[in-house]
Amino acid sequence: MANFAEYKDVWVFTEQRQGKLMNVARQLLGEGYRLSREISKDTRVCAVLAGDGVDHLVDELYAYGADVVYQIDHFLLKEYTTDAYAKAMTDAIRTYKPEIVLFGATFIGRDLAPRIAARLDTGLTADCTRLDINTANYVEYLKTYTTASTDGISGRNDDNGLKQTRPAFGGNLMATIVTPNTRPQMATVRPGVMDPREKKQGARGQLIRVCAQLSADDIHVEVVEVVKAAKELVSLTDADIICSGGRGLGSAEGFRLMEEFAAKVGGVVGASRAAVDSGWIDQSHQVGQTGTTVKPKIYFACGISGAIQHQAGMKGSDVIVAVNKDPQAPMMQIADYAICGDLKKVVPEIIAQWDAE
Ligand code: FAD
Repeated sequence: MANFAEYKDVWVFTEQRQGKLMNVARQLLGEGYRLSREISKDTRVCAVLAGDGVDHLVDELYAYGADVVYQIDHFLLKEYTTDAYAKAMTDAIRTYKPEIVLFGATFIGRDLAPRIAARLDTGLTADCTRLDINTANYVEYLKTYTTASTDGISGRNDDNGLKQTRPAFGGNLMATIVTPNTRPQMATVRPGVMDPREKKQGARGQLIRVCAQLSADDIHVEVVEVVKAAKELVSLTDADIICSGGRGLGSAEGFRLMEEFAAKVGGVVGASRAAVDSGWIDQSHQVGQTGTTVKPKIYFACGISGAIQHQAGMKGSDVIVAVNKDPQAPMMQIADYAICGDLKKVVPEIIAQWDAE
């Protein structure tokens, strides 16, 4: 049983690829900052930066709110491998004992976090869309563990700690999960659902260099070559405008209209799962619970009914414009602008009007 009194601070695994910080790292630093201040004024948000030759990212992490950067620099961390990253992170967590550790629910985060949780024998909530601290009780709760408890459970209130919310049962309900018996509390969080802090150029924090005990024997795979996907993956999470199409488009041919629309407005093409499952468009375009979560300035939903699983990925958009021939479609109910009509007529009209602007 962990001695909870030893655990403090909020850690964010700040994922980088080829020396570039992922957007989700900035978003989680923003969320980690908020959570840390809610826990107590002494709790810090710490970025964990693993890689080889990644010093250039340290200032950026401070600028996005990190009080502390734990830098784990090692030549064996140059390319992501499960073995090396899981060992380096597990060792660091054992040494420094964070209260909370957050990962982006990216391919890497989803691969890494469960392995670390298993090694630490602690809980992990996957694919969270919301995190909360039970503020009122948290400080009391920390006091309990810093003054009295050494076994980590006496006086425990299961409502305390990090409340991790994620969709369950096909998105039909939201489950709130707590990890009352173990530390650290770990979660992967969907990209696109949390907000980064405003960048503060010149902000300063504390740098802690962590010496990773890694040898080639720890790694059971060898990265021979990194082959980039032939076609660019769609950057839905970064798009300001998304033109999404659903089953109402009727065919793969129908998506030509969405491509034309997106090109006109400077947007990116999104899709419902029904359109993806029909083979009309690649899965990388899918928005929703099992696709990407997006937060553009404008989300056009054309021929999309607005099933709860689709809404789960786009309802945080600033402005939603629905084009649907059914005025009762759920998407028409949540839209800021609902245009009732045949998309084959409405979308070309929007394109033409955009031209006229
Ligand atoms: P439909 O529900 O068939 O809606 C088509 C809409 O087009 C209708 O509203 C119709 O009125 C309109 N329409 C038809 N013709 C026209 C026209 N000519 N002009 C204008 N409007 C027209 N779905 C996702 O999208 N993303 C996910 O990530 C996702 N994950 C899921 C996970 C699970 C576990 C499950 C069970 C389901 C998931 N789904 C997901 C599927 C989801 O439940 C819906 O089935 C899907 O979103 C429906 O897609 P759609 O709106 O394109 O199709």
